[in-house]
Amino acid sequence: MVDKKPVLEFSASVVKILTETPTTKTLVFDISGINFDFYPGQYVMLEVPYPQTGEVLKRAYSIANSPLRKNYLELTIKRTPNGKASVILTDRVKVGDTFRIKGPYGKFIWLPEMSEKVVFIGAGSGIVPLMCMLRYIVDAGLHHVKATLLYSNTSYEEIIYREELERMERYSNIKIVHTLTRSIPEGWRGYTGRINPDMILKEVDDMPVNLYYLCGPPKFVDDVTSMLTDMGIDKERIKKEKYE
Ligand SMILES: Cc1cc2nc3c(=O)[nH]c(=O)nc-3n(C[C@H](O)[C@H](O)[C@H](O)COP(=O)(O)OP(=O)(O)OC[C@H]3O[C@@H](n4cnc5c(N)ncnc54)[C@H](O)[C@@H]3O)c2cc1C
Repeated sequence: MVDKKPVLEFSASVVKILTETPTTKTLVFDISGINFDFYPGQYVMLEVPYPQTGEVLKRAYSIANSPLRKNYLELTIKRTPNGKASVILTDRVKVGDTFRIKGPYGKFIWLPEMSEKVVFIGAGSGIVPLMCMLRYIVDAGLHHVKATLLYSNTSYEEIIYREELERMERYSNIKIVHTLTRSIPEGWRGYTGRINPDMILKEVDDMPVNLYYLCGPPKFVDDVTSMLTDMGIDKERIKKEKYE
């Protein structure tokens, strides 16, 4: 167990908006005046005013930036078809807009002292807390940690953080593996189809000693959990975050 980080409630302004994919944006908040600390993998609750009804929606968003990057908080939001908050956050938000934020929360945490061998398995926006962990490995210079990412998306265009993940492949201790499930571009050299036991066996070394971090839609997390347990991985070695 790790010590709990203090939960803070604060207002922060959007200082930058990055377009990650046709459906996904990263909102960068200035938190330079706030002593906000969190563990890689945790999330915040964001209050999103919803003008159509006058409600204030509260939604969970994983923290995308490494905890070592102190002045900014980055949230990466994928538009959910017919969703309320995610549509506002990806279509309407402008630089200068201010939001109420509360956190950090969550037990989906990875720290090097938990395991130096780690496998991240994500689908779609489920990459966000896993990217936070990967960024932390890079920022903290954790060269002794061996990390493998298996990342599933519907199409090449929907791969969030694609260029940064390509750059991370240069580190000998980080392995990035993509699979595409629907639209496959010509010349694609990654996997196609859903993550399956063959893929895991081929890409993951030392299966029993790794910790496994799974994030994405509930069905994805449940399916991969069953695969891993059927392959003999202890349940305690599988950490899960479901984006309900
Ligand atoms: C711990 C945690 C961390 C998360 N981190 C992230 C993250 O980093 N990035 C990210 O993008 N998301 C993340 N999520 C998901 C996020 O919290 C929201 O659930 C997501 O953005 C959708 O919110 P929304 O308001 O747009 O959708 P909602 O309006 O809540 O709708 C959710 C779903 O219900 C459907 N729906 C809505 N109204 C109806 C209706 N009347 N009839 C039938 N169906 C309907 C919508 O089509 C949609 O599929 C996280 C979730 C959790 C629990």
